[in-house]
Formats: sequence, C-alpha cells, structure tokens
Amino acid sequence: MSLVDLPLLPLGKGRDLDAERGVECPGDLPAASDPDLVERARAAKAALGDRVFVLGHHYQRDEVIQFADVTGDSFKLARDAAARPDAEYIVFCGVHFMAESADILTSPSQAVVLPDLAAGCSMADMARLAQVEDAWDAMADAGVQDSVVPVTYMNSSADIKAFCGRNGGVVCTSSNADVALEWALAQKAHLGDDAKILFLPDQHLGRNTAVLQLGMSLDDCVVWDPRQPRGGLTVEQLRDARMILWKGHCSVHGRFSEDVVDELRAQHPGINILVHPECKHEVVLKADLVGSTEFIIKTIEAAEPGTTWAIGTELNLVKRLADAHPDKSIVFLDRNVCYCSTMNRIDLPHLVWALESLVDGQVVNRITVDPDTEREALVALQRMLDLPGKSHRD
Ligand code: SF4
Repeated sequence: MSLVDLPLLPLGKGRDLDAERGVECPGDLPAASDPDLVERARAAKAALGDRVFVLGHHYQRDEVIQFADVTGDSFKLARDAAARPDAEYIVFCGVHFMAESADILTSPSQAVVLPDLAAGCSMADMARLAQVEDAWDAMADAGVQDSVVPVTYMNSSADIKAFCGRNGGVVCTSSNADVALEWALAQKAHLGDDAKILFLPDQHLGRNTAVLQLGMSLDDCVVWDPRQPRGGLTVEQLRDARMILWKGHCSVHGRFSEDVVDELRAQHPGINILVHPECKHEVVLKADLVGSTEFIIKTIEAAEPGTTWAIGTELNLVKRLADAHPDKSIVFLDRNVCYCSTMNRIDLPHLVWALESLVDGQVVNRITVDPDTEREALVALQRMLDLPGKSHRD
C-alpha cells in the first residue's frame, strides 16, 4: 500500500489540504512552555474584539475551551458561526470537517481558521470521494443504484456531503439520524422494502439508528468495505440489504467495550451507562441511555445528586462534566485514558499563533471549500434543515 492510500497520514507528515489528513503546521509556534501563553491569547483576542469569533467543540482541551465564545457540537457551532456575519474571522477549535461546514454556512468574506491543520478526523477520512464514487458505480453495475439514497453523517468531508447533495441524499447528525433515514426511505417509497440507504461514513451510527430506532434487523444491514472488490458483497447481498453501511468508525467511540460495562455494573450496582451512538452496537445494547453529546450533557445536568454514571464519549467532555457536577459520581467508560488525538492537536500554542497572526493582519490556516462543492453540499445540508421536528444536533 502506498502512503497516499493510507486513510490517515502519520500526524505532521505530508500535506493534503483537501483531506482530513495530518499535515505540517506551517507556523512558527510559541513554545508550549511559555508561561505567558494564557495572557498572550487573552491579549490577542482583546485586540481583535468583535472581528474574531472563537468556536470550541465539546471535545477540545480545557486550555483552549476557556477562550471559546461558544461551545457545542459540530453542527451547533457551524450554525453559531453563520449567526455572526459581522465576524471577519471564525477561529474553529475543532477538526477539519467542522471548519469546512462553517465555511459552507458563512459568507465568502468571512475567513474560517483551523489553528492546526493536522486536526483532521480519522472517521471522516475513512470515506474518500473516489472510494464512494467507485462504490456508487458498483451499485449501478449490480442494478441497485436506483434504489439507494445516500445519507452522510455530519462527520464527513465537504465533498462527501456534496456527493449526497447531487445524488438525492441528505446530511444527518446523531440527533436526527432516525428522521433522516425515514426521509431517505420515503424518497423510494414506491420500491417498498427494496428501498435502500447508503450510510456514510460511520457504520455504528447507521446500524444503531436503523436497528434501534427504525426497527430494521441486523440482517437488513450489510457493511461496504471500500478496500474489497464490490465492497466485499455479492450482488444478492446488495439486493437484499436495506442499509448499506460504509466501513468507517470513530477511533475514540469504537474503543468502548461490553466487558467494561459488565465490570462497572458489578463494581457499582445502580450505575447508569450513558453512551454516544458512535459506539459499537453491542455496547449500545448494554447501555441505559444513548444519545448525542448535547443529550449526554443535558442528561447529566438533569441527573439527581448522588447518582453514578459511566459515560462513553470523548474524555475531555467527560472530565469537564465530572468537574462541573461534583454532586454526582461520573467515570469514563474505558480502562485507559483516551482522548481524540486529532481534536487534541489544537492546543494553546496553536491558538495563540493563529490569533496573533490575525492581529498582525495575516490569515493563517484558512479552510475554504470550492464553490461547486459548497453549492452541492448545501443542498444536502438544506434537506437536513428541512427535516421535521428535530434539533439537528450531533
Ligand atoms: S471523536 Fe471521533 S468522530 Fe470526533 S473528531 Fe475524533 S475521530 Fe472524528
């Protein structure tokens, strides 16, 4: 396998600005040991005033989140950015696909900055446009393409969202995946049970939603492996399937295991297990509650004092929830420390460097989506916004 075929480049090696890949940071960063970093970030932000709007994803480090004007999940942050047309600079403390979505939803005169270009997303990188187009062609050869509606999770690159836009599909978040799947099946209602969904790029969110919320069976789901000829599936398997799940996953949420759930239940009778739907199906089946990051936050906020919780999502968020709720006992649903390594690429030195560069009139690490991709991605995003009755949060 050549380096170019690897789904994720070793961080800091190589350069591919169009992908969720590790790239070199071009900047002259302040030393991480500089004792004045907090003061420098504060001063740069104050100097920029309302010209800058800093967004912080829930999975960001504390040292970064303290400078965020708003925090949230990827879709909320993109909408927050769109609601600030006066801000010249949107500094996105998150990962690459989120900055792309912010660029799509903001005006061309606003610059979206990602403080470290190595902050990609390994899940988004598991579905690359050329692979998805090959799969689409293979589905045509198998005679099923006309029955398929593509649905992509927000956690995907802009060109995958554009693919869904131009092929009658939609974007979804982990809050509205059920409604998006129902919408997609309704587009092919005349085909009855032959209607199919190609779900990108997270097989777990797709499977959990189809089985637990739409009442499909596991046998209705097949997994398309982009590294196998025809996805590793027979024509019959493709014809019989209702959910064609792309073989992608989140490296953080994929770690949580049934064993640890059993272990924690034995150690802490009465413990509540709360997980994100990017976790494996077997783990979700063993959990008490499943939902998006916003759902997890609201659940803990509403929980009774004295209750015990194990949370299966990114560790920065779990730690912040534990610190904010000392009246509840909150533990991480894994034996090991596990941060999202790419989210953690955004640290204080990168943030200081990005902000101070803006003060000097230099826009660094600008993320732009080309106009054609933007137009088609917006079609799929707009279809999501038009879905009935959900908060559109992931
Ligand atoms: S937590 Fe998972 S889905 Fe989110 S940015 Fe990290 S790898 Fe991607």
